[in-house]
Amino acid sequence: MNRKILSQEIIDTCLEMNELGLNQGTSGNVSVRYSDGMLITPSGVPYKKLIPEMIVFVDQSGCFEDGKVPSSEWHFHLACFKARPDLNAVVHNHAVNATAVSILNHNIPSLHYMAAVTGTDHVPCIPYSTFGTEALAESVTAGIQESKAIIMQHHGMIAMEVNLEKALWLANEVEVLAKLYLKVRSIQEKVPVLSAEEMQTVLGKFKFYGLKSE
Ligand SMILES: [Zn+2]
Repeated sequence: MNRKILSQEIIDTCLEMNELGLNQGTSGNVSVRYSDGMLITPSGVPYKKLIPEMIVFVDQSGCFEDGKVPSSEWHFHLACFKARPDLNAVVHNHAVNATAVSILNHNIPSLHYMAAVTGTDHVPCIPYSTFGTEALAESVTAGIQESKAIIMQHHGMIAMEVNLEKALWLANEVEVLAKLYLKVRSIQEKVPVLSAEEMQTVLGKFKFYGLKSE
C-alpha cells in the first residue's frame, strides 16, 4: 500500500481511537510497518489537525526524516515491529481502565474467554521504565513476543495486529477486559477465571475467529 493511503489510515485510526474513548489528550500514538521501518504519528499534534504529510517515517535504525519529529514513544513502536514480524500495526494509548490495572501491576487474567484475542490466555503487565527510553522498548519486546496486547506498568497499553483496523479493535477489547477486571475486583478480591484447559480450547477456536476485514 502506498505511503499516503497508510498515513491517512493512521490518522483515521487516531480519530476513531478518540471516538471510542480510549485516548487521553494526545497521549496515544499509532504506527504501521512501512518499507524497512514504520510510519508513525508525529509528536504533540492534535489528531484533528493531522494531515498525511505530517506522518513521520522512521527507518529500522531509528533515523527519521529531516524537519519531522515522531512521537516520543517511537522506540517501543519500532521494537514491536522487530519483535513481531508477523504483525504490522501498533496502537498505543493510556485508556483509563487498562492504565488502572497497570497501576495495580496485575496481568489481566482469563476472566472472560475474550482474553484469547491476545493470542494467549491473559494480558501481561510489563515492568515500569521511563517513557521514551530504550529500557522501556526492551521490556515491550519481551511482552509483545508473549502477547499481541500488553499493559505497561504506570503507563498504558499496546495492541499489535496484522493491520490498523484490527489493532484498534484489539485495543478496545483490552480496555473492555480491563474494565471487567476492575468491576469484578471491586466486588470481590479474588477474580474467578477460566481454566487453562478451557482457554486452550478457546484459543484453538480463535484461529478461525476475529474481526473480519479485507
Ligand atoms: Zn504512552
